[in-house]
Amino acid sequence: MEHMENGIPNTGSKHFYYKHSGAFSPIGIMIILVTGLIGTSILSTIYGFASLYIPFIYINFLLTAGLGFGTGSLIGFGAKIGKLRNTTILTLLSLIFGIFVLYSSWVIWLFVLFERELLLFNPLHIISAIEFLAIEGAWEMFGFVPTGLFLYAIWLLEAIVIIGASVFGARSFLSGVAFCEDCNSWAKYTYVLPPLQHSTNHEFLRNMLEQGNFSVLSELKEADNSAFFTSVQLSGCNECSNFFLLSVTSIENTKDSKGEDKTKATQIIENLIIDKKEFDSIKEWGENSVQANVNLA
Ligand SMILES: [Zn+2]
Repeated sequence: MEHMENGIPNTGSKHFYYKHSGAFSPIGIMIILVTGLIGTSILSTIYGFASLYIPFIYINFLLTAGLGFGTGSLIGFGAKIGKLRNTTILTLLSLIFGIFVLYSSWVIWLFVLFERELLLFNPLHIISAIEFLAIEGAWEMFGFVPTGLFLYAIWLLEAIVIIGASVFGARSFLSGVAFCEDCNSWAKYTYVLPPLQHSTNHEFLRNMLEQGNFSVLSELKEADNSAFFTSVQLSGCNECSNFFLLSVTSIENTKDSKGEDKTKATQIIENLIIDKKEFDSIKEWGENSVQANVNLA
């Protein structure tokens, strides 16, 4: 228990958040393009076949969202490998590949629909085929065949979901991660402190931490509630000793009206840049408070 009494010292200086530098390389872009092209060709082929042969509308909707998210994840994965630190370029690429996967899934879907005898690659021909199908309808849902404007609305919604999920999926890959520009690699080190007491005053915690008043964390003490707590994560570059970050999240586990578990995670600070001394003192306090727990047990 002795260590618990020693809090984390304050440094009292203004701290800033990590932001992607915006850097990228032609090789990195190439990696994303290759990953994207191979991946979307496979995904759209699966989707084109599956959406025609699976008659369940809900599963189809999940497939649609999955196609977009899968595409975005591939772009995000390529961006991680290719060391892309530019969110604008990432968004643009995921938008382009979202449109491309939509196009190629139409190619495959029409190919399967027309008894695998007609491969339309020209977008103008695809649009003509869509206009032709909209007259009579192409499939049944809830016992009726959608046609005309209603069918166009469904196809538009499908397009929005695919492209939107692609952008969302790609961006989620680069959010929360940090890159050490000195070592030219992603920061891989993480250490999660034992859960601390839950705090409802997020604004206060954020202001204190941004001002370098890290003792607010040790003052919270260890959590005695496994459903409501504050999670503290240290991260940094494990190749050099001058890139350290602090993230703090408020976790609230509750049950919804149906009695199912629900976790609400509120990010209080994400990737606040700290120095080695601050990193060491927070980590040491975290390890010692665990130690205190073990001794008590
Ligand atoms: Zn480094």
